Amino acid sequence: MRIAFTGRNRRRLVFWLTGLVLATVLASLAADRARNWTLQTLQRSGTEVQLTRIGEIRSWLDSYDYLPFLLTQNRDVRALLLYPNQDMGVRVSRYLEQTSLVAGSTALFILDRSGRAVAYSRWRDQHDFYLRSHSSRNYFVDARQGNQGRRFGIDSDPQQPAFYLSAPIYDEQRFIGAAVVRLSLDLLQERLGAGLPWMLSSADGTVFAASEPDWLQQPVTALAPASRAYALDDGTRVEFWPSPQGGESMAQSVTLDDLGWTLTILQDTAVAQRNMRSAILAALGGCIAVALLLLFLRERRLKQRSQQQAQQTLASSEQQQRDIIDTAQVGLITVDERGRMRFLNGTALQQFGLSDAQALDQPLRRLLAPTAALDVLEAALGRLGTPGFAPLIGQEAVGVRGDGSEFPLLVSIRAMQGARRAKEASQYLVTVIDISRRKRLERALQEANETLEAKVEDRTREIKSMQQELLQAEKLAALGRMASAVVHELNQPLTAMRTYVAICRKMVQQPLLLNESLDEVDGLVGRMAVITSQLKTFAYRKPERTEVVSLLGAIEQALALFRGRFAEEKVQVDFSPDIPDDRVAGDGARLEQVLVNLIKNGCDAMQHSSPPRRLALRLSAQDGWLELQVADQGPGIAEEALGKLFEPFFTTKQIGSGLGLGLSIVRSIVQDLGGEIRAENPTAGGACFILRLPQYAHAMANAE
Ligand code: ADP
Repeated sequence: MRIAFTGRNRRRLVFWLTGLVLATVLASLAADRARNWTLQTLQRSGTEVQLTRIGEIRSWLDSYDYLPFLLTQNRDVRALLLYPNQDMGVRVSRYLEQTSLVAGSTALFILDRSGRAVAYSRWRDQHDFYLRSHSSRNYFVDARQGNQGRRFGIDSDPQQPAFYLSAPIYDEQRFIGAAVVRLSLDLLQERLGAGLPWMLSSADGTVFAASEPDWLQQPVTALAPASRAYALDDGTRVEFWPSPQGGESMAQSVTLDDLGWTLTILQDTAVAQRNMRSAILAALGGCIAVALLLLFLRERRLKQRSQQQAQQTLASSEQQQRDIIDTAQVGLITVDERGRMRFLNGTALQQFGLSDAQALDQPLRRLLAPTAALDVLEAALGRLGTPGFAPLIGQEAVGVRGDGSEFPLLVSIRAMQGARRAKEASQYLVTVIDISRRKRLERALQEANETLEAKVEDRTREIKSMQQELLQAEKLAALGRMASAVVHELNQPLTAMRTYVAICRKMVQQPLLLNESLDEVDGLVGRMAVITSQLKTFAYRKPERTEVVSLLGAIEQALALFRGRFAEEKVQVDFSPDIPDDRVAGDGARLEQVLVNLIKNGCDAMQHSSPPRRLALRLSAQDGWLELQVADQGPGIAEEALGKLFEPFFTTKQIGSGLGLGLSIVRSIVQDLGGEIRAENPTAGGACFILRLPQYAHAMANAE
């Protein structure tokens, strides 16, 4: 994740880094203070222990101080020194034995002026004591010099450190010997006992008494090989000795000047380390607590700030909502469960021409005119405050203004969101939209619609009448064309018949010639019958029943009718069909009439073309349909004639050559048979008529 190093983040980082540095400094200061404080406390308690120990040493020594003097005052002792003899020696030794026992000393002995022992408290178990010379021992030297001796020394047998008190013995100011008290340092060791480790070292630095037996006879320097001095905050200097178990001990030493002894007290400094660690932890804990407090305060400040912002946003949003409500173009009214108005915005007051005082606490229905729509509104208002209340949306009604005038409006009533959330649907919002303008526009639109409809109807009527007129004109034109064609066709045989009738009158006496003329008349009547039969076919209606007809057979029959014309006009017919099913549903004679017309038109079109003239008939079957193409090599169909070919009485032929009914009859018959026909000009030249008829099976299936 990449953290954007913005100014704010940088400040935060600097703050926390500073905090970290401060915490570290604080922790190290606290650790130092704790260590110093602990060491000072240790030092003070060590000093106290030292003083106690020194007091004990001194009181121990003092408790024996009188003994040498006591011995010097003894008459027997003096007598022995002046007149040495064995009896007196034994006597004095017994005395020393008893005194030593009472005093608790290790041994008492009397030395003569040469330093040789003459009496000894432990005369019973140490017989060789008398053989030793004490002349060079310091306690004897002190006594001989007239001083009281207080000396430390090590006995040769057994090799034990001991303390010696000595006093000179005089006879009339003449040194005659010395009284000596030996105190084993075991006694002192017992007295000083346990507690803090301690050691007593002599002036030459050798330990002669200690709480630990291992230290005895060791030089102090050997016990503290890497000692280091340390100055406490109050200026006191202490020494640290490495402990054999690891760690360090604080060593406090004091020298007893008169004795030349140094008392050293040792204290384990682990407690100082522990306190130091505790101080670090406490300082860090404090820092963490302060950091948490700062975080807490910051969070609280942020929360307060966000609450303030939320309140400001809420206030501004409320203000905005009030502005929206006041400036809305829609009338907004709140009503209570009983349908009484609690609030109306400016637009609502304006719509109804009321003031707050006139409208508030009044029932809403007072603003509505009694129309059919009021029932719906009354029903909705009656359901206010019930759980089954369903909102009413966009109900049209009529409002009543303060001055009694009415205006159309659109009313919606729905429970207010806040109230719904509080599960107490006590407030409902009624929106009122003045639709006077809309109604006016609707009316205007309706009127415009009605006018437009009337205009459209008029126009439609006009167009229909024009179409009728056009149709009529076309019919009249067609009728005219037909009339002139029929008149022309019939006129010629009628004129001929009139001539023949006149001839017949004259030849009435010559029956043979008369018969010939009557034959001519008969032929002319037959021709007229053909013309009328064509007109009859045109008027022919579709037969009720259909039969199975072979299209191939009908084509061959039609071709057979033209065999003579084909030969006369040198027309080559190209027709060799090969289809499995050529059956169509229809009427054989009418189908033949269709084919005859198409073949005749083909031959007519090629009349002015140079031979050989080719008429191609192509028959094919596809998807239940039979398709017959009749193509000639004539001039083709004129572009403008293509659309009119199948209209009745359309012909391009000379009057008398064609009635223009052929193709019209063809199309009528083909449509009756359920087929279709169209004409086109192939690119190769000539004209082609394409006739499509449903195959019999297909036509039957469709009919079912
Ligand atoms: P009629 O043969 O009496 O004129 P039809 O209805 O049979 O009447 O034909 C209408 C017209 O169609 C013809 O006058 C002719 O102009 C045109 N027409 C018909 N068949 C052909 C054809 N094979 N080639 C060119 N024109 C044709």
